[in-house]
Amino acid sequence: MDASSAPDTPVGRAAANRRTFAIISHPDAGKTTLTEKLLLLGGAIHMAGQVKARGERRRTRSDWMQIEQQRGISVTTSVMTFEYDGVTYNLLDTPGHEDFSEDTYRTLTAVDSAIMVIDAARGIESQTRKLFEVCRLRDVPIVTFVNKIDREGRDPFEILDEIQETLALDTAPMSWPVGMGGILSGVYDLAGRRFLPYAKQGEHPEPIQAEPSDLGQYVADEQAAQLAEEAELAQEACPPFDLQAYREGHLTPVFFGSALKEFGVEELLANLGKIAPSPRTQPAEPKPVEPASEKVSGFVFKVQANMDPNHRDRIAYVRLVSGHFKRGMKLKQARTGKTMAVHNPIMFFAQDRDLAEEAWPGDVIGVPNHGTLRVGDTLVESGDTKFTGIPNFAPEILRRVRLDDPMRAKHLNRALEDLAEEGVTQVFRPVIDSSYIVGVVGQLQLDVLEQRIQSEYNVKAHFEPAPFDTARWVSCDDADKLKRFLDRNRSATALDRDEAPVYMARNFWDLGRIQEDWPDITFSATRERT
Ligand code: GDP
Repeated sequence: MDASSAPDTPVGRAAANRRTFAIISHPDAGKTTLTEKLLLLGGAIHMAGQVKARGERRRTRSDWMQIEQQRGISVTTSVMTFEYDGVTYNLLDTPGHEDFSEDTYRTLTAVDSAIMVIDAARGIESQTRKLFEVCRLRDVPIVTFVNKIDREGRDPFEILDEIQETLALDTAPMSWPVGMGGILSGVYDLAGRRFLPYAKQGEHPEPIQAEPSDLGQYVADEQAAQLAEEAELAQEACPPFDLQAYREGHLTPVFFGSALKEFGVEELLANLGKIAPSPRTQPAEPKPVEPASEKVSGFVFKVQANMDPNHRDRIAYVRLVSGHFKRGMKLKQARTGKTMAVHNPIMFFAQDRDLAEEAWPGDVIGVPNHGTLRVGDTLVESGDTKFTGIPNFAPEILRRVRLDDPMRAKHLNRALEDLAEEGVTQVFRPVIDSSYIVGVVGQLQLDVLEQRIQSEYNVKAHFEPAPFDTARWVSCDDADKLKRFLDRNRSATALDRDEAPVYMARNFWDLGRIQEDWPDITFSATRERT
């Protein structure tokens, strides 16, 4: 929805004015640094320190998950909100490093756009690629920030080529670095024909309106000449920025800068406000929901549990899709038909968290509950809407579950079923073996799983390597063909908790081969939660 097309109502205006986004990157590319600088620009200075201090603070809060305390990392998908130039931004944190998990992926189902941060010296790295693929599943528009140009990096053309080739994504350079590392002089705004001089941190020299060839008085002659040549070449080689292609996820505008030196960050943010989409129309049954719709609705994209067995409380993270939410409002859980009054929502969107009493489309609220809310759940003020499109993701780690005490088998079944429903893990039952296989996308999920099985269900279990590396949901229009496939591959077949068949591959080579051998079978890396 564009501001121009949004209905002129409080909900319509609030929605048009919001940008809910995530930052995707590989560890060390500069996500944390960029986050801090964005928060600083947004005037949320008191929050900026929190990004780094998170581990510290957590350790003093005794009631958070033990794992979080032990590791000093965040299991939470936290939400940071700030304002800049009249636009409200919700930045949803995608946990990386050791706390990479399915929540990282699911967070991307709750954003309307993403910033992809790339280290200028390293280019596209594995985790960026994985997260990008998840964005691509729903054509999430992506703005690229090539970071660390204050250090020696790769040739900008090489970086653009790499994005184009490895991600099959068109690139439209918006700015162009003038030198890098020790000889960095600034960036040139290609569309605005402005030179932004690189200055000491905290200094903000005025942009200079000039053609590259006329920059001789501001930068070395060779640099001006090189810029003139490269700018021309870039504009010949790359398509111009096209808003629609960006919004459809086919093209990424590329900015160059240095998060650490606060250089190019403001340009990035200003552009995000202009081009990034406001809260989208969300796919749902019986029909999609417009953000400006007056009825409050939202979906759960993450559930955080408290590890203390005496506290069964959980926080469900709800992305609001439509309407004007107010504290105390009654919302119906579509799956069960039950209504809950949301008296103590955790509000992330205001500067002062304690005083916030309301939320709008694109905002996220944390709803405390005792395990009733699950990932994928729809909450609505009234009516029978059910949101679709919150998937499970193909596991990247598969483990066989071994029970230490066989008498506890029933309890283990219950634990695994509950925790799979909650979205902590995925559970597969091989067709020719009675032991369960659990599937996760990050090691942390396994640790959480083991700890919760023990503390909440009093079951001691451990995980053994399974002879499989990854899994795909399989389907086929022709039921006989699917049956033939499953019969032939019984030793690699399992059922998920909805009895949907899954092919477990020994490795990616095996997966490639089976896909070639069975061209009529669809192998899917995601499956909608039911
Ligand atoms: P994250 O793992 O993606 O969150 O990365 P961080 O933001 O923690 O940054 C990783 C390292 O790169 C830190 O030492 C940062 O100080 C450094 N860094 C981040 N941005 C820049 C930059 O623009 N220039 C330089 N030279 N270093 C940077």
